[in-house]
Amino acid sequence: MKLIQAVRGTKDIFGDNAVKYLKISEIITSFYTNYGYKMIKTPIFEETDLFKRGIGEGTDVVEKEMYTFIDRGERSLTLRPEGTAPVVRCYLENKMYITEELSKFYYIGSMFRYERPQAGRQREFNQIGVEVLGESSPIMDAEVISMGYKFLEKLGIKDLELKINSIGGTESRKVYRESLLEFLRPLKDELCEDCRNRIENNPLRALDCKVEKCRDLTIKAPILYESLNLEEKNHYEEVKKYLNIFEIKYTEDPRLVRGLDYYSSTVFEIVTNKLGSQGTVLAGGRYDNLLKQLGDKEIPAFGYAAGIERIMLLMDLEIKVNPKVYIAWLGEKSCDIAVKLGNELRNLGVKVAIDYKDKGMKGHMKKADKLNVDYCIIIGENEIEKNQYILKNFQNREQENFTLEELKERLI
Ligand code: ATP
Ligand code: MG
Repeated sequence: MKLIQAVRGTKDIFGDNAVKYLKISEIITSFYTNYGYKMIKTPIFEETDLFKRGIGEGTDVVEKEMYTFIDRGERSLTLRPEGTAPVVRCYLENKMYITEELSKFYYIGSMFRYERPQAGRQREFNQIGVEVLGESSPIMDAEVISMGYKFLEKLGIKDLELKINSIGGTESRKVYRESLLEFLRPLKDELCEDCRNRIENNPLRALDCKVEKCRDLTIKAPILYESLNLEEKNHYEEVKKYLNIFEIKYTEDPRLVRGLDYYSSTVFEIVTNKLGSQGTVLAGGRYDNLLKQLGDKEIPAFGYAAGIERIMLLMDLEIKVNPKVYIAWLGEKSCDIAVKLGNELRNLGVKVAIDYKDKGMKGHMKKADKLNVDYCIIIGENEIEKNQYILKNFQNREQENFTLEELKERLI
């Protein structure tokens, strides 16, 4: 019989990865709560128009990566490819701006993009993201960026590089677009097919192409910073000043543009050199136009998202999932005592392993070894008679005798 396998580009999370995933979720909750962020959970699918309008029709995501389908009620729905547009939709729909001057959210969840699967790139992947709505100060840009950096550090990830840039507002980008087009057109035949298409509908994306030849060809492309107006330049200078105050090191990358249309002004990426071409771990920026685009509101916003699969590839956890104690029982009468003791120890928060299959002493010891436990409790007829149970230390192999009560005290 042919076994059914996981769909291409999707991955089960189990074993060590499950431990890492849980660890990340745990840290997320405490870390983001400290910064005053509230959890938000939006549906996995949305009306297709939300992403078309939010992310932009000329982007790779909308053009060729969305999982779009018609449901039984003839609606066009899309599995969310990213988390920002849904959060903004929820914020606007619930008119949160009326009661809150500043809203801060974090989310964790799966995203869906039809991309070529490779290490660190899947079709269903998980993101942790944050969104801050209602603040235009560059101090907030620096605070959110530094928070992202510290979050990755907290997970034990080292050798990260923060890259920043400003892509200005719509008007400045229009000016830049023209000078970039002038530069790109003569190169058209040498660029990759994607970039050839980008020239017509989204030339800035050519700067973000992952094909080496395109990167080389565009190395001398005009610099976006020069097209920014004074206000935009000042904002960018302030972001850098506050990054210094937050004590976060950065490199300026004048070629850094993001893949989604809603970004403006500050953009940033935190990258590692350990994941090949999938080196971006966390990325985001300012998106002051999105609320206008989706709800006709002048509300400034800033956010980022990080790929959990990429974080897991970088995490070097010393994973300790082994139980603290294994209870070995010999004979029927011992079984009930073992079950009762195991239950009581678990109620007290002790990690207990117990095997309900009847086996001899040798079998139990083999099992305890395999589980890599710290201790083994041995319960046999003799032990029950004397109310003295053996506690074997698996680190030094020493044995001591205790009553059931003493055992509990000893192990909590
Ligand atoms: P990339 O340039 O790597 O395609 P992106 O610009 O499309 O990334 P964003 O949409 O900003 O990325 O998403 C933020 C983060 O989510 C990325 O930095 C990455 O860590 C993660 N991510 C994006 N797409 C995928 C994917 N297909 N599989 C796994 N992780 C992903
Ligand atoms: Mg992408």
